[in-house]
Amino acid sequence: MKLGIVGLPNVGKSTLFNSLTKAGAESANYPFCTIDPNVGVVTVPDERLKLLGDMYHSKKVTPAVIEFVDIAGLVKGASKGEGLGNQFLSHIREVDAVVHVVRCFEDENVVHVDGNVNPMRDIETINLELIFSDLEILERRIAKTGKAAKMDKSLAKEAALLQGLKAHLEEGKNAASYETEDEDEQALLNSYNLLTGKPVIFAANVGEDDLADDGAENEGVKAVREFAAQNGSEVFVICAQIEQEISELDEDEKAMFLEDLGLKESGLEKLIKASYHLLGLQSFLTAGEDETRAWTIPIGTKAPQAAGKIHTDFERGFIKAEVVNYKDLLEQGSLAAAREKGLVGMEGKDYVVKDGDVILFRFNV
Ligand code: GDP
Repeated sequence: MKLGIVGLPNVGKSTLFNSLTKAGAESANYPFCTIDPNVGVVTVPDERLKLLGDMYHSKKVTPAVIEFVDIAGLVKGASKGEGLGNQFLSHIREVDAVVHVVRCFEDENVVHVDGNVNPMRDIETINLELIFSDLEILERRIAKTGKAAKMDKSLAKEAALLQGLKAHLEEGKNAASYETEDEDEQALLNSYNLLTGKPVIFAANVGEDDLADDGAENEGVKAVREFAAQNGSEVFVICAQIEQEISELDEDEKAMFLEDLGLKESGLEKLIKASYHLLGLQSFLTAGEDETRAWTIPIGTKAPQAAGKIHTDFERGFIKAEVVNYKDLLEQGSLAAAREKGLVGMEGKDYVVKDGDVILFRFNV
């Protein structure tokens, strides 16, 4: 999974990116790899993994990971190529979801590009750039399809979709909120890979004072929440500056610091939960002496496709999946004991994998 962090300059993107990648790298002792300075890999915190790894004395414990891309440089006029705009927009095309950082904190020392703090105006500015960029793509498609549709009547449906989408975007709406007629049309829409068709998580960056009540009294946060609810997006409240401080602490200090602030979890955990939820993702686990590992799959994935996450051969030669819930496995202490109690299911190719399933795949090679 790949998430792109966007937002206007000076809203706290880099601060957030740095603290997330640092915290994610250290919490699981994962070899933090920097592909380039703007891409970081973060591990998904998962208590179940440690418990299973201890039970199996696994040589290796491998958490699921999320890749973050810090997409700086999005400014007014980006879609017209200003400030290297188009280059940044093309980075957004490559991500599964967008984390849109919105400045909701007041600080005289941090200049706002538009003079004052106004989260909804900022959101509109960024959205408009994304819409302009999508409109350009649609125009090109319309020109191409229009010519071809004269020869090939089967393209009429696509031509209508393109016109409908264009009108929708011209009203300032996102492609994600466009109501398609059927699955075929939705598949077509998805194939355009539009920026405004991507799921969005808003990160409301607040001051320290707004953290304890999760931004309930902050007018900016309220407005963002309302907007997100109307658009099927998720919101999470964060203080990037505090996150940066937290990312420099060890585990014990971190727990104390969070408690002092009246918080249950760090921003990284909040963000990962929000993105899993928004993208409809869950994890299944594999456990053994060599390795205990978490794998990310969309909710509704069937056993053979889950196996395919591990290796394409597993999917092709899939025979059966031995499935046990991680709690049952931990309680029984071994797979054999869980089998004896009848807690392990032998599942076929139609089995829909559940979050927290520990799976042993049987397959032909
Ligand atoms: P970017 O341009 O969006 O990447 O913004 P930066 O992360 O570089 O942050 C811009 C400035 O705002 C820096 O001086 C940060 O220290 C400051 N900043 C970031 N987050 C916060 C915050 O939560 N509260 C306050 N007061 N300042 C912040």
